[in-house]
Amino acid sequence: MLVHTIEEVRKQVKEWKKQGLTVGLVPTMGALHAGHKSLIDKSIAKCDKTVVSVFVNPIQFCPGEDLDKYPRTLEADEKLCTDSGVDIVFAPSPKEMYGEGTIMSNDFLTYVIPPFFYTNKLCGKSRVGHFDGVCTVVNKLFNIVQPDFAFFGEKDRQQLIILKKMVHDLNIPVEIIPCPIVREESGLALSSRNKYLSENGKKEALVLSKILNNIKTCYNKGIKDVKALTETAYSFINDNHSLEYLEFRDKDNLEEKEIADGNTIVFIALRVENVRLIDNIEL
Ligand code: AMP
Repeated sequence: MLVHTIEEVRKQVKEWKKQGLTVGLVPTMGALHAGHKSLIDKSIAKCDKTVVSVFVNPIQFCPGEDLDKYPRTLEADEKLCTDSGVDIVFAPSPKEMYGEGTIMSNDFLTYVIPPFFYTNKLCGKSRVGHFDGVCTVVNKLFNIVQPDFAFFGEKDRQQLIILKKMVHDLNIPVEIIPCPIVREESGLALSSRNKYLSENGKKEALVLSKILNNIKTCYNKGIKDVKALTETAYSFINDNHSLEYLEFRDKDNLEEKEIADGNTIVFIALRVENVRLIDNIEL
């Protein structure tokens, strides 16, 4: 069932709760692919009812980012959800979520601001305010849907860590379920932004998973020094790639590592054809 208003979702969820049913939420920005579907399938397997939100959240885009050209494919998204057994597709307008006049203006909206230590690094460094927008919208979605479980992909690992922190710090009664990264056979992590890449760009984009897999192989062979592991990446990079970061950080609190261990995530962001791609791997 496709629903556009907060009121309709609330009404339906209230009915479910009265019957003692559990509710799973899968927040997305649409342009759904097999990565999103893996989250949806997990929710359907675990919960009595599943809500998928499809909302391109304006307040998590920075000035100059791709808000206007972000792919919007609601009809196909709805079909994927219906075919998968989703109970509600919640696709609100920006006005429904933020009200008239408040969109994009910090002055008239209550924000949820995650700790600076978590947001001043990795993607947060170039996307200032991005995680404030993410935490604010996810908090709103939690309040609207009141799910028992919420499903997030490890593809956006910094986001996942920050949302777990938000749920912990604000005592939000929801359990976050992390879901593994879904990749093409080639190794490329699925992403709605892969649509911006040419065929050749998709080949060049394999550099992210190649670098990460090679680091993991080196780590398994006994190299633990982060400087040495970082250096293994450079032979993969050419003029078609613009590396934004390659960093080794703790999987729970994002502290930087000098010596890699079993609690380390390797994070990479790199541009191909000016498309910003991210990936990560757990050592
Ligand atoms: P997005 O629509 O890009 O905001 O993503 C919605 C959710 O799907 C987030 O929790 C993402 O981490 C997750 N997701 C996106 N791509 C993948 C993928 N390739 N594998 C697993 N989860 C993904």
